Amino acid sequence: MFSPAFVSEKKQSGKSLSQSEIEFIVNGYTAGTIFDNEMTIWLKAVFDHGMNHEETLNYTQSMLNSGAHLDFSHLPGYVIDKHSTGGVGDKISLILGPLLAACNCYVPMLSGRGLGHTQGTIDKLETIPGYRVSLSLSEFQQMVQDVGISIMEQTEEICPADRKIYALRDVTDTVASFPLICGSIMSKKIAEGIQGLVLDIKVGNGAFINTLSKAKELGILLNNVGELYGINVSTSFTDMNQPLGNSIGLWCEVMESIECLNGTGPDDVMRVVYHLGKEALKIAGIDNPEEQLRIAISDGSAIDKFMQMVKAHGGSLESLDNPETHKPLFCQEVCAETEGYISFINTFALGKAVVHIGGGRLHKEDILDPTVGIILHKKVGDSVYEGEPLLEYFCSDKDKFKSGKLYFKETIQIKSKLSAPIELIYR
Ligand code: URA
Repeated sequence: MFSPAFVSEKKQSGKSLSQSEIEFIVNGYTAGTIFDNEMTIWLKAVFDHGMNHEETLNYTQSMLNSGAHLDFSHLPGYVIDKHSTGGVGDKISLILGPLLAACNCYVPMLSGRGLGHTQGTIDKLETIPGYRVSLSLSEFQQMVQDVGISIMEQTEEICPADRKIYALRDVTDTVASFPLICGSIMSKKIAEGIQGLVLDIKVGNGAFINTLSKAKELGILLNNVGELYGINVSTSFTDMNQPLGNSIGLWCEVMESIECLNGTGPDDVMRVVYHLGKEALKIAGIDNPEEQLRIAISDGSAIDKFMQMVKAHGGSLESLDNPETHKPLFCQEVCAETEGYISFINTFALGKAVVHIGGGRLHKEDILDPTVGIILHKKVGDSVYEGEPLLEYFCSDKDKFKSGKLYFKETIQIKSKLSAPIELIYR
């Protein structure tokens, strides 16, 4: 029999772990016989020393085996999902999920909460009063069948290992590790019983991966694991050197997603939505993908799907008509100290700032403030004059609000000359 210390020390010494050692750790932590402090040591050992391909596969399989594996093969349409490796202002799932459902796909989407400096789809959805993020498996399956889409979190029944490990990684700085990311993402996606998967690998100073070459390495890993389980995977690499869209936070991102579904959202968000949507519909074998997506936005069927999903999850539709459902008590502008052009946005720092003012967790048990967010008034390449507002941040906790001054300082740089534009979708 192993002990957590033995397995962690083996990894710390650079050795590979056997399938049974990995299973011991994943099952033990899921069952509660391995404690947070012991698991943190193991996570840090993996973070520092990595895993080889076989270990990564075994880790993913153990995570998958911790819960149920769904089967949607009886449904009369293509079953597909989208997943991102995580970014700041990344609200694509809230838009693309309903949009694909409006194009006759079935979307059983298991999403996560905030991770590290990024804000999670589940935390955003939970700001909708009444929205239940945790359903029984049978409710989830029925909803996918009836509505075409359900977005919920990992539960005790499906991917319980990721549910626990994800929450611990969030507060222990052990997110940016390829095997841990692979196990987390792919166990959820395989468990969903999907036929196709569109992966959005975020690259840049606000992502967990900073360079395109590293992102491609992760893409190959995720792709290989997906195909091994018979999933058609399409991988895209998109920019995270500045936040996506203009809003970063919780409720404010739900509001921006609704604008996108109504056809009035920011251009960068919609470009990524259409790009990933096209990839998804191509895998699903649907003709004229771009046209289908644009029609579903313009004729209102995508926003209808979103509303149907919210209603089916118990969420209040009235709340969505009123941006002031979560009105922050405190709000502050950050203005340009000089004129020029925006040359750099420290996207990681902005994401972290949102966490610090109450939009993310510093400890596992932290309760989030739904009003937290930022509205960005400027993006890279925009011109500014001295004193012009660059962004505004808001929340409802007085002490956290006061500390915001420190976190938002120098997150946006201005130069006198215009710098090269940022590519949004990498080829
Ligand atoms: N998304 C996930 O679901 N897990 C990760 O580890 C990173 C992004």
